[in-house]
Amino acid sequence: MSYKSTFQRAVVTGGAGFLGSHLSDALLASGCEVVCVDNLCTGSRENIGHLLGDPRFSFVRSDAIDGIHVDGPVDLVLHLASPASPVAYTRLAIETLRVGSEGTSNALELAGEKGARFILASTSEVYGDPLQHPQVESYWGNVNPVGERSMYDEAKRFAEALTVAHASRRGVDAGIVRIFNTYGPRLRSGDGRVVPNFIRQALADDPMTVHGDGTQTRSLCYVDDTVDGILRLAASPHLGPVNIGNPEELTVTELAHRIRELVVSASPLRHLGLPADDPKFRCPDISLADELLGWKPSVSLEDGLLRTIAWFSKNQDPAVTRLPRGPKEESVPS
Ligand code: NAD
Ligand code: UDP
Repeated sequence: MSYKSTFQRAVVTGGAGFLGSHLSDALLASGCEVVCVDNLCTGSRENIGHLLGDPRFSFVRSDAIDGIHVDGPVDLVLHLASPASPVAYTRLAIETLRVGSEGTSNALELAGEKGARFILASTSEVYGDPLQHPQVESYWGNVNPVGERSMYDEAKRFAEALTVAHASRRGVDAGIVRIFNTYGPRLRSGDGRVVPNFIRQALADDPMTVHGDGTQTRSLCYVDDTVDGILRLAASPHLGPVNIGNPEELTVTELAHRIRELVVSASPLRHLGLPADDPKFRCPDISLADELLGWKPSVSLEDGLLRTIAWFSKNQDPAVTRLPRGPKEESVPS
């Protein structure tokens, strides 16, 4: 990917996480300096290890809840700090609510003080278990405020409201991106999300844990496409919210079969209970992203999964290392 540099110096909260580290890569490649602020509660030094020697990159290990202090000019604040997987935000329930509220407030204060563009990493989870399909930005959602996912959903809904208030009352130049399920290299294998779980299980020939009957759907976007969408919103004057996601929707069972095929694995499917409030359908309407940002995803599910599997094969437990089936192998007669 190559971006024309619109910004000189960005603060990325959550920059040592999956998405934040890829965004940092893209910003640095565009000529922008990056200050990564992260408490490493779900992120890791490995995600940014390749950047630590770059003089244009700095890492501040601190909690966004305690205030975000950065010296010098800043013209972009990308606020990603938050646990993001259901396993992580369930374990860190109060921390998730606090970073969504106090952490977002601190990130907005920083943007206001520096006169920087602010982008909130919101989520398709603001639509809850949606009653409208696909989900368009004007849909208000169907969230259980005291349910199993409420710490995350309500934190992000509050964060959106706070962002809108800072934009309208204090003139902060803000944008809200509603990110749909994104996958790719650097997802933690113990993160609990479906793609790293299935890939790890398939590589080890372990049972693939399908929650419920596996008919619930998700629409998976490869990380490079999501990063491109977020940076396009950052470079635009729009507040949004704007959905960024890939409308190629499939059931969880279909996903298990696709990954099993690409890994050439003998894993059986094992059905576990469906977590409470697990959304039954999820698919973004991305007309607004297309209209405002000229954005559409470009990486197919097969390509994205192959790249992700290749990364997991290299970076995970050597006992389960295995090469994914290459696209060329498909055309080889058996
Ligand atoms: P991740 O867990 O890999 O990254 C989150 C990062 O935030 C981690 O590095 C973590 O250590 C850091 N963090 C958490 N709380 C913090 C705090 N209080 N102070 C400082 N740092 C803190 O998850 P991700 O998938 O990269 O998600 C990044 C952001 O994007 C999150 O805000 C998430 O809600 C949003 N998002 C992601 C997806 C997705 O599919 N990946 C979908 C929707 C929204
Ligand atoms: N899921 C699954 N097996 C797993 C992990 C997740 O079947 O090992 C299901 C989960 O219940 C949900 C979907 O896959 O229906 C996506 O889960 P994920 O945690 O990746 O993200 P979500 O969209 O639920 O936030």
